Amino acid sequence: MFIDTHAHIYSEQLLEEKNEFLERALRANVTTVLMPAIDTQSHKSMLDMEAVAPVTCLSMMGLHPCSVKEDFKQELDLIGNYLEQRKFVAIGETGLDFYWDVTFKEQQYIAFKQQIEWAIQYDLPIVIHSRSSTKECIDVVSQYTGTGLRGVFHCFGGAWRKLKRLSTRGFIWVLEG
Ligand SMILES: [Zn+2]
Repeated sequence: MFIDTHAHIYSEQLLEEKNEFLERALRANVTTVLMPAIDTQSHKSMLDMEAVAPVTCLSMMGLHPCSVKEDFKQELDLIGNYLEQRKFVAIGETGLDFYWDVTFKEQQYIAFKQQIEWAIQYDLPIVIHSRSSTKECIDVVSQYTGTGLRGVFHCFGGAWRKLKRLSTRGFIWVLEG
C-alpha cells in the first residue's frame, strides 16, 4: 500500500486523464492521494474529488505562492474560513516561488507565514513549495523551531548540505525529478 503525497489530480488540465490516473493508482496499490490546494479558483474541484474517487483523495488547504497576487488577503480569509469549518490533511501548498515572478515577493512572505501559523494552530503538517527560494524558505521555517512545525519540502533541487540542515527539524524532502 502506498500514499501519493502530492498530486493535483483535480486540476483542469488533468480532468480528462483523471479516471485513468486513478485506475493506474489503484493498480499500483496507491490507496491514498494527498491533494495540495492551489487557490480559491480550484478549491471546489479539489473538494469534489474527495467525494467521487475510488482512491481515497484527501485535501490540503492553502494558497500556492504563484497564486499570491493583489487579492491575497481575500484568498487567505477564505482559506481561514475553510480551516475553521472542517479538518484537512495538511496546510499547503505554500512557500515561496521566485522563479517565475517576484512582483509579489513581500506578499508571498506574508501568505507563507500566515499558513505556517495555521499549521501550528491546527497541528497540521505543512507542504512547502520552494522554487529559486530554498534558502529563503529555510530561513522562514527556522524562525519556527520548537513550535512543532513539520512537513514536506516538495520539488527540492538544491544542495545536499541544505537538505541535511533541515532534515533534522521535522521536515521530509521530496527530490525533484
Ligand atoms: Zn504542487
